[in-house]
Amino acid sequence: MPARWIDGREVAACVRRAVGAAAARFSERTGRAPGLEVVLVGDDPASHLYVRNKERAAVECGIRGHVHRLAATSTQDEVRTLVARLGERDDVDGILVQLPLPSGIDARAVLDAIDPERDVDGLHPVNAGRLASGRPGLRPCTPAGCMRLLDAVGFDVRGRHALVVGRSALVGKPVALMLLERDATVTIAHSRSTDLESLCKRADVLVVAVGRPGLVRGSWIRPGAVVLDVGTTRGADGKLRGDVDPSAAEHAAWMTPVPGGVGPMTVAMLLANTIEAAYRRAGLEPPTC
Ligand code: NAP
Repeated sequence: MPARWIDGREVAACVRRAVGAAAARFSERTGRAPGLEVVLVGDDPASHLYVRNKERAAVECGIRGHVHRLAATSTQDEVRTLVARLGERDDVDGILVQLPLPSGIDARAVLDAIDPERDVDGLHPVNAGRLASGRPGLRPCTPAGCMRLLDAVGFDVRGRHALVVGRSALVGKPVALMLLERDATVTIAHSRSTDLESLCKRADVLVVAVGRPGLVRGSWIRPGAVVLDVGTTRGADGKLRGDVDPSAAEHAAWMTPVPGGVGPMTVAMLLANTIEAAYRRAGLEPPTC
């Protein structure tokens, strides 16, 4: 049976509506809008585009968004100082440093300077540690978006075989931990793994975050599996391609398209994290967005 496509744009729109309502209630109760500050260093055109999208999405939902654009020649200390100062302001609930940073700046040193309670990308080691030890905390946006897509199609991962391909701190590791948190039996594959084909063939849920178009072939998909394709690679024709061959849709029960699957969820979950951080900082119970 061919897959039904998971419409990430629709699920993301749902999250954004909930964020808008939560932002309005927050403003009423505290007298100010939730605030998100984005730090963008350098001239990478893709990063500028992503940041513009994030700023626009925030403002549309009633979140006060501000972008700090720093020159590519900025030093690591300058970026760290800005991030640390933002963490001292009362009206700032979320701080995001757009990655990648220009060469010469160690992203980890910059991320470490973010106040963990305002770390809306969920990449600070304190939040990574909270996830690993099963404590509440701000979760990385793309993995959180993947889990939300599983919820949207009503797929319960408990006791099921989940394969995560990719082990980055941004996607692979956190999504594996989130699947484990929900009682899936999780395998993580990476560039040194052997026989990816048989690992894929056992998976009831497959999350692929590598950045190699067509790495996972359609015939490797277990019939009835749910496939979340995180990979986005822009081809010479300007089109975005995922890591999973689109022919996988002939075997899967549900599958995300690229574009329009996991991608839209990343920004939506950033906004949801900003709401969570704002409510917690104000001593209020955060709503589910
Ligand atoms: P990354 O840091 O480059 O990590 C890629 C991972 O893939 C690594 O763990 C690597 O293994 C593994 N890998 C490489 N070749 C492999 C192979 N042949 N078989 C199995 N695993 C292999 O990338 P990332 O930041 O996680 O991003 C992954 C992809 O997701 C990219 O296309 C990125 O653009 C996309 N992405 C999309 C969104 C979104 O919002 N849609 C958000 C984030 C990322 P090793 O660890 O062994 O090197």
